[in-house]
Amino acid sequence: MSLAHGRAYLAIPGPSVMPEEVLRAMHRAAPNIYEGDLIEMTASLIPDLRAVAQTRQHATIYIANGHGAWEAALANTLHPGDRVLVPATGRFGHGWAEVAQGQGIIVDMLDFGKRSPIDLNRLEEVLRTDARHEIKAVLATHVDTSTSVLNDIAGVRAALDAAGHPALLMADCIASLACDRFEMDAWGVDVMVAGSQKGLMVPPGLAFVFFSDKAAEARKRLPLVSRYWDWTHRADPQMFYQYFGGTAPTHHLYGLRAALDLIAAEGGIEAVWARHETLARAIWAACETWGQSGPLELNISDPALRSRAVTALRIGAPHGSRLRSWVQDYAGVTLGIGLGMAEPGDPAWHGFFRIGHMGHVNAHMVLGALGSIEAGLTALDIPHGAGGLEAAARVISGKS
Ligand SMILES: *Cc1c(COP(=O)(O)O)cnc(C)c1O
Repeated sequence: MSLAHGRAYLAIPGPSVMPEEVLRAMHRAAPNIYEGDLIEMTASLIPDLRAVAQTRQHATIYIANGHGAWEAALANTLHPGDRVLVPATGRFGHGWAEVAQGQGIIVDMLDFGKRSPIDLNRLEEVLRTDARHEIKAVLATHVDTSTSVLNDIAGVRAALDAAGHPALLMADCIASLACDRFEMDAWGVDVMVAGSQKGLMVPPGLAFVFFSDKAAEARKRLPLVSRYWDWTHRADPQMFYQYFGGTAPTHHLYGLRAALDLIAAEGGIEAVWARHETLARAIWAACETWGQSGPLELNISDPALRSRAVTALRIGAPHGSRLRSWVQDYAGVTLGIGLGMAEPGDPAWHGFFRIGHMGHVNAHMVLGALGSIEAGLTALDIPHGAGGLEAAARVISGKS
């Protein structure tokens, strides 16, 4: 008998759960885009977005998804024939590299596989060999959502500095923003990209590009930037329509205002990071306990290298797909597919899953998802260590 009837829980790593406050803020008549509340409300978003990104520099909002943010970052800083270095730690590094290639940019890949972070020594070595400074930017993924590896972005800056290399440092924080600690200015990041539908708790549709004064200088040196992606007026609009290069994404903006208010009400970004930290540790504790016997294994073995937004798991085929189906059909919890771990069509594809724990998630949601997974493991006779939920409860209660 299915017990899924009740409130469904989308526990995938984006799009994430939308708070009632966000949905209510979006449920309104069409606002005037020429004068009135929308104009001031939009201006109020910018300082709050900067606080979330920990930057005092430039902030822009695009009507786009994460792929659009990727393209915007490159369009404003590089031209065809320029070279970039992409240290990949999963699917998303390759994704950004493909977007760059589509813009005529030459990509040097440094692939660190699916279970390891960027090797900073290796990165520094490669930067040192580029004595003529042909590499114009390093495109680093803060959290790779497919592998759940957390990369050390401050360490990437240190590698650039140690090599005396002037390339721009660009960070993809689409999965990590408002989940894992990130400090744009303190870590020396020149361009940071994010989206609305993960830690920021708003439906897909808004993309964010933050950039430093150094990146602004790179923009000024370009002879031509596609009009829509050009960040110049978006970051410093003289007229309201210039924020978006056209009609504003009115309802998304009200949703974003509500989401930023939720972050403020919780006590600010530090408090949000702390919540994600504890909830992630609860999930890891349960998964490690289940993994003490049987096939379940965290993709990233060292907790210091794991994201607080998403957890990638290996369980062997066909258990991953069976478990996801059971948990969705019988318990109303949707888990993430394993992304980039095996080709779709390869039987091994069914051996992975991910838990998204980004944005609007709390203790009862995480404990509910973990309880549902434990029920699924039991129902499907997948061997697992006993006491996973208890281990999670100890973390949640502050006892471990
Ligand atoms: C989700 C995600 C993207 C892609 O975002 P879309 O909105 O799907 O275009 C890129 N990078 C990372 C790290 C992501 O998590």
